[in-house]
Amino acid sequence: MSLFALFAPHLSAAEMVQDKDKIAALLLDRRERYQSCADLVLSPNSTQSVQKIMQLAWANKIPVVPIGGNTGLCGGASINGGVLLSLEKLNQINPVNTADRCITVGSGSLLYQVQQAAKDAGLFFPLSLASEGSCQIGGNIAANAGGINVLRYGTMRDLVLGLEVVLPNGEIISSLQPLHKNTAGLDLKHLFIGSEGTLGIITAATLKLFFLPQQVETLWASCANINECINLLNILQKHSSGSLKSFELISHTALNISANDLHTTPPTNAAWHILCEWEKTQNTERLPETLLQHGFEHILIAQNEQQRQNWWRLRENISAAQKRRGVSIKHDIALSIAALADFVAACEKNIQAAFANAEIVLFGHLGDGSLHYNIFLPDYPDKSVYQFENQINSIVYQVVLQHNGTIAAEHGVGILKKHWLKNMRNASELALMQAIKQHLDPYGIMNPHKVYPE
Ligand SMILES: Cc1cc2nc3c(=O)[nH]c(=O)nc-3n(C[C@H](O)[C@H](O)[C@H](O)COP(=O)(O)OP(=O)(O)OC[C@H]3O[C@@H](n4cnc5c(N)ncnc54)[C@H](O)[C@@H]3O)c2cc1C
Repeated sequence: MSLFALFAPHLSAAEMVQDKDKIAALLLDRRERYQSCADLVLSPNSTQSVQKIMQLAWANKIPVVPIGGNTGLCGGASINGGVLLSLEKLNQINPVNTADRCITVGSGSLLYQVQQAAKDAGLFFPLSLASEGSCQIGGNIAANAGGINVLRYGTMRDLVLGLEVVLPNGEIISSLQPLHKNTAGLDLKHLFIGSEGTLGIITAATLKLFFLPQQVETLWASCANINECINLLNILQKHSSGSLKSFELISHTALNISANDLHTTPPTNAAWHILCEWEKTQNTERLPETLLQHGFEHILIAQNEQQRQNWWRLRENISAAQKRRGVSIKHDIALSIAALADFVAACEKNIQAAFANAEIVLFGHLGDGSLHYNIFLPDYPDKSVYQFENQINSIVYQVVLQHNGTIAAEHGVGILKKHWLKNMRNASELALMQAIKQHLDPYGIMNPHKVYPE
């Protein structure tokens, strides 16, 4: 029996995706790095439909790969045969619960829609990524997304109060109550946050909301070296009473690529730039003055909302501008702040020893130690650069590991980094992960061949 014939009697016609353009878009990831091939694409419109799909998949041992906004950067939602399960129709956004400061949403809701729903109720959902117009809450949870506000509000893991998940055998577990505390047994939601679709399908989530920041102050600083950037971070943290919410690093190269792409002039010219933002309070009034007293002369404070948005546009446009220049080898890494300067120097030395012309495009969320470390080889501006991917990854990841960092800060492991997981986790940790996976998914149908080394 074909997969279509197996699933069609149990789902509505609209849940059986047949539009060729729609399917083509789902089968190619945003980076155009992974071309997938699926036997069937389904788009369930309720948790009950997801349950039915998983019951049938379990009974017939059919691989199922969940896909959200398809903006993941390490092939987590790529598929090679089986059912591709698009969650986009699970996009119900319930009214904000102002008393408990939370909101319950379907996992297919777009991140920016959830931000907007919170804002409309006078509250704030702080997860913010350059892909927020297309990524979905389920994908954000499955990848434990980070973004620009982690310094103050944490990663997606810190923002989830409860989850509804359909397990590989079709059972549903749910903890969508608006409880900020619950120590009754193991907190199972944490198993699924960051599990990249390998343990179950997230169908809904209850998310924490915060009060809207009254007013923010945005600062652009230029620094001669990484240590100066870290010094700036320390001073701001010390004097901002915890209200510093973003602290982004942008290298000279990254800034120029973005500025050229936007046909604009960078605000300053230096080796390194910092774009950071804090929520204004009485305590932060004297911050700019304090920075001057500490010798930070090259700082600008955004004078109006337009200037603030222009600066953020320069930062958020880096990935898109890079993509328009050609294909690069991307890394999403994190290090302790104390190790950052050494790492940057050592990695640059090793990359340049192997590829003299390599352009290192470095930017990221320095405030929490995570960096986007992208390599562009001007002689190989297209997909031919992938012939060097393993070599470049080895250079970067070895330096990361020597500095006790991580090869996956916020994009997950997917298919791209699964061979590196054994360098990150010890044998007992890997065995425990495999045991959990085996318990929930003994037939290996749930997003197979991802994350765990085979
Ligand atoms: C320009 C750009 C900037 C980015 N910036 C950031 C950034 O600053 N910080 C950051 O963390 N990430 C960033 N990302 C990466 C990406 O946007 C995030 O990983 C995002 O959380 C993925 O969401 P998605 O809905 O697109 O998931 P997808 O790409 O569709 O899927 C990602 C993984 O989650 C699984 N999955 C998806 N939905 C579900 C579900 N409902 N249940 C179970 N598993 C599911 C998939 O199988 C896959 O393994 C960026 C990406 C781009 C293109």
